[in-house]
Amino acid sequence: MTLKERYEGVIGYFRTHVPVAETELNYSNPYELIVAVILSAQCTDKRINQVTPKLFKDFPTVEALAASNSDTIFQYIRSVSYPNNKAKHLVNMANMLLTDFDGVIPSEIEQLVKLPGVGRKTANVVASVIYEKPAMAVDTHVFRVSNRIGLTKAKTPLQSEQQLVKHIPQEFIATAHHWLILHGRYICLARTPKCGVCPLTPWCRYFKTQVIREDAPHSIGAPKSSAATSIGSVTKKQAVKKAGLTPQPGRKKTDGKVPAKKPSTKKSF
Ligand code: SF4
Repeated sequence: MTLKERYEGVIGYFRTHVPVAETELNYSNPYELIVAVILSAQCTDKRINQVTPKLFKDFPTVEALAASNSDTIFQYIRSVSYPNNKAKHLVNMANMLLTDFDGVIPSEIEQLVKLPGVGRKTANVVASVIYEKPAMAVDTHVFRVSNRIGLTKAKTPLQSEQQLVKHIPQEFIATAHHWLILHGRYICLARTPKCGVCPLTPWCRYFKTQVIREDAPHSIGAPKSSAATSIGSVTKKQAVKKAGLTPQPGRKKTDGKVPAKKPSTKKSF
C-alpha cells in the first residue's frame, strides 16, 4: 500500500463516518478556549470541564484574569495537573494579551507561542479552532495514532505535524486533528489498542505488521513468529492479546466507531 492510498483510506473513512469532530473542551469564546487549552496540557478534558465553569464565571474576560493573581487562580484549578505553573501562566498570559496584543488573541502561530503557557500544540489548536487555519496540533494521541497507522514516521511532535500537514488535504487538516485525537482516546488506546473493533484496519500498518499474519492480510491469526518483536513496549504476542483478538472475558463490545459527539452547547463567536 502506498502512503497516498493509506491517507486516502483513513481520511475517506473519517469524512464519511465522522463528518463532525470537535474539541471536547467546553468554551463559549476565544478567551475561554485559550484558557481551557492551556489548562488541558497533560490533563483530561473531562477534568478541565469540571473546573472551568466557576473560573469563567468569576473571571469572564482577559481583563478580569489579568487583574487577578496566581494564588487566587490556583484555588480554582487546584484539581488539574501542575496547578501552580498553570495559574502563573494564565495570569501572565492575560497580562501579555493586554500589553502586547490589545487584549485580542493573535491568529499567527509565531505570535501565539510568545504567550506564557502556550506551546506549539496549544497555538495550533487556537489557530485552527478560532481562526479556522489549516494547523495540525499534535498531542500524545495524534502522535501515537499517526505513527501506528503509518501516516507518519516521526520521532517528535514537530516531525509528525510536518508530515501530516504535507499529506492531508488543507481543508481537512483542522478536523483531522480531532479525528485522530478521538480515535486515540476511544479506539487506538495507548496500552491496549482495540484493533478488534477498529474500522481502520485495512489501512493500518500496525495491524498488518503486528497483529495479523503478514502473508494473510486482513485475516486474524497468530503472529508469524513467536519471537518477541517489540513495537514500543508492546510485543507481537501482547499486541494480539491487547488488540482484543483473543477471548477476553467481560471485554466490552463496541461497534468500532468513535462515539458520536454530544450535541454542542457552545455559543457561536
Ligand atoms: S488497527 Fe489497531 S493499531 Fe491500527 S488504528 Fe486501529 S486500533 Fe490503532
